[in-house]
Amino acid sequence: MDISGGSESENIEDRRGSGGGRRVLVGGGIGTIAIAIIALLLGQNPMTVLNNIGSSQATSYTQPSSNSDQDDAGKRFVSVVLKETEDVWTDIFQSIGRTYEKPTLVLFNDHVEGGCGSASSQVGPFYCPLDQKVYLDLSFFDELSQRFHASGDFAKAYVIAHEIGHHVQNLLGISGKVHELQQRTDEVGANKLSVKLELQADFFAGVWAKNSTRLKINERDIADALTAAAAIGDDALQRQAQGYVVPDAFTHGTSEQRMYWFKKGWLTGDINQGDTYGNAQ
Ligand SMILES: [Zn+2]
Repeated sequence: MDISGGSESENIEDRRGSGGGRRVLVGGGIGTIAIAIIALLLGQNPMTVLNNIGSSQATSYTQPSSNSDQDDAGKRFVSVVLKETEDVWTDIFQSIGRTYEKPTLVLFNDHVEGGCGSASSQVGPFYCPLDQKVYLDLSFFDELSQRFHASGDFAKAYVIAHEIGHHVQNLLGISGKVHELQQRTDEVGANKLSVKLELQADFFAGVWAKNSTRLKINERDIADALTAAAAIGDDALQRQAQGYVVPDAFTHGTSEQRMYWFKKGWLTGDINQGDTYGNAQ
């Protein structure tokens, strides 16, 4: 991919502090917000639930201040990718007779307060449907390459596109329906629904990649995204954290499922092919 000619989004909210050290996180996973929402609906503190579910053991250490040039490059990257999601999803929504409302992407360090309460970087990047904002600590990208061995720019773009996928689900009313269903089922059933929601967000990320023309996304980039999708599958995270796999506790899908749905989005480019609810995969 090539972001050099891309324009930047105006919808970045930079809440990064100018403090000394920067925490580097080891743990968490993307997309945990679905669980947080269920927790909110159940009247529980989502962070308690997230910790309880604990797909991985989160620890952190402090790293000396990173140089600001690097951070600005990170911000520009996020901004260009966000702009491309805005343009692509605006077109796709138009083609189905809808209007795409652009979400805001909040950059933060360590902790953030938002429409879904307060969250730490340990939950990974997430989307809050209540304020329609994506929250991202750029240190997750370090984690992606260091802990998950998923490097390459497009691995990062995939993470952003996945979170934007949750925004698309929100606008289309899909996540609302799923959360309603989750309230009427037990924990295992709720986890299964959560997996389907996550896989669909992966699928939407693939659809976005396919419909993007400006970033010159190629097969090599897709391979990077698949590496990332495989690395953060629930089975991979559980195996890494506890040495064994408990399928009923999955909330995001296995590595294979995540790769399957991202790839399906990339191959079809068609949002109508993303019925993770009616498909055994
Ligand atoms: Zn997700």
